[in-house]
Amino acid sequence: MLTLELNGRSFQAEPGTTLDALFMSQYKEGFKEGIAAKLNGKVIDFHTPLHDSGRMEMIGADSAEGLQVLRHSTAHLMASAVVKLFPGAKLAIGPAIEEGYYYDFQVDRPFQPEDLAQIETLMHQIADEDHRFVRGELPREEALRKFEKEGEIFKVELIQGIPDPTVSTYTHSFFTDLCRGPHVPRTKLLRHFRLLSVAGAYWRGDSNRPMLQRIYGTAFPSKNRLEEHLKRLEEAKLRDHRKVGQALDLFSIQEEAGGGLIFWHPNGAAMRRVIEDFWKDEHVRRDYQMVVTPHIAQVDLWKRSGHTDFYRENMYFLNVDEKEYVLKPMNCPFHIMIYKRKKHSYRELPIRIAELGTVYRLEKSGVLHGLARVRGFTQDDAHIFCTKEQVEAEVQGVLELVQFMLGTFGFTEYQVDLSVRDTKRKQDYLGEDVEWETAENALENVVKRAGLPYHRAEGEAVFYGPKIDIKLTDAIGRQWQCSTIQFDFNLPRRFEVGYVGADGQGHPAYMIHRALLGSMERFFATLIEHYGGDFPVWLAPVQVQIITIADAQEPYAEELRTLLREKGIRAEADLREEKMGAKIRDAELMKIPYMLILGRKEVEERTVSVRSRKKGNEGSIPIDAFVEKLVAEIRTRT
Ligand SMILES: [Zn+2]
Ligand SMILES: [Zn+2]
Repeated sequence: MLTLELNGRSFQAEPGTTLDALFMSQYKEGFKEGIAAKLNGKVIDFHTPLHDSGRMEMIGADSAEGLQVLRHSTAHLMASAVVKLFPGAKLAIGPAIEEGYYYDFQVDRPFQPEDLAQIETLMHQIADEDHRFVRGELPREEALRKFEKEGEIFKVELIQGIPDPTVSTYTHSFFTDLCRGPHVPRTKLLRHFRLLSVAGAYWRGDSNRPMLQRIYGTAFPSKNRLEEHLKRLEEAKLRDHRKVGQALDLFSIQEEAGGGLIFWHPNGAAMRRVIEDFWKDEHVRRDYQMVVTPHIAQVDLWKRSGHTDFYRENMYFLNVDEKEYVLKPMNCPFHIMIYKRKKHSYRELPIRIAELGTVYRLEKSGVLHGLARVRGFTQDDAHIFCTKEQVEAEVQGVLELVQFMLGTFGFTEYQVDLSVRDTKRKQDYLGEDVEWETAENALENVVKRAGLPYHRAEGEAVFYGPKIDIKLTDAIGRQWQCSTIQFDFNLPRRFEVGYVGADGQGHPAYMIHRALLGSMERFFATLIEHYGGDFPVWLAPVQVQIITIADAQEPYAEELRTLLREKGIRAEADLREEKMGAKIRDAELMKIPYMLILGRKEVEERTVSVRSRKKGNEGSIPIDAFVEKLVAEIRTRT
């Protein structure tokens, strides 16, 4: 007999029995509490045969794990509707994903929007019939024969990859799928779902395998939460940086040049210059030393750094004079070379070397996405070399700079992930205990002191050092990964990075990689979507649009434009022979913060009629007063 502990009660159960049976016979409340359960920390469903005693908890649909079970079960429901409506459709896989789920199918023709509506309707019908998800187990060979007979070639391939002697299936109504589970107990629990889109997807992500049709959907435990999510998706669509980027003429990706390579147009480049200047000024103020390093280097350097071992598939190799070169995927080894150009005494530390360093990484074409996932990008990179005693103050300094800079860009909410090593597997990590302890404590102390919410992930650190990742929350509540503070106990060993201590002896230096914005490209995407293109005046590509009512104001308009530009203001003049209304509309479409309307009166009185994007019509004011106010607004970055 097994003994199960649940909510302080204990139950006896025959081995092989299920929670479903247990709840029917002994503990009816169980059904009401959850849609799945956890036994000794592992998620199981009401139909999984029980083989172990232990502690159980119920999982509600509101928890992260419950939501996954709910969404994956909805994928089964969707597949059942698809095979009913499209006889002969072959099934691939249907996992839960971050914001929903998908299922891949092989069908004769691509799905159309009307198909999705039809599938969704049938899903509701099947769900309302309230079928149970029934688990079946059968010998592997038998499962192979069954799916082979049904022509389910992808399932056959999946079974061939399963080493276990038995495989499990789940059946609701007429539909059986090969699956490990877990699922919700009954289809009636699946009520708040929506099919969202269709995309082509290669079987197993391999472009040499068949192209399948992937239907994306989402599901929630309540109507409210589903509607909230759909509303947010609509908002996100309007803010999509690819769309806004085109409307505001900020950047493009040119087919002819290749995927994942960004062309910054004058408007986008104007913004980038503002961001870069701000970044450089703040770093120089904090004793960072700016450097510039090459874009390629001989392969031997990357062998020494270890990149050719653990980063090879993301690197571009070139042949120059019969020697192999690498297009740099990271700036670190170059900054180390600059650090090592001379011997350093402990008195010189910390040394902070910074660069807006452009790197190239080979990403699969399928994952490229606007500015957010690219092949060439500029990291706002820096490497700090310091002593053990300086570690905490350095981490503190970086975090303060992160908060100051991101705060200035308008982000005030952050989530921190602290990745530390698994102390039970010490042998898997490079570096000494004292190094790990110093670094992990510094990271955690500093984050705690800053009062930031953080999550400590044991065993999530990479082999060469602990780190924190900082995610910011944007205007519609989405999180974007941007800053990283990463310790490295690997490169300093490989390159013998050290300093001369007070004792006159050589000591290894602590090395910290850090990026605040992450990459200029990705951060630009974040900014665009956060503001929906409606940038604060200090960032706006064009800050002032001068609009003439008639030709007579042209000389005054040109004089004004020159004056504003001399003050460092990005001003343009619209001198087209268009009606004033049309010029205003165009400036509004470009989301320009200020319009200056010039008529006869403004020329005579040397004033400007100000239209502010935020405050509307501000009336006529003397030109000097306007310039003074605007310069102050830009300087304070408000
Ligand atoms: Zn399943
Ligand atoms: Zn680095």
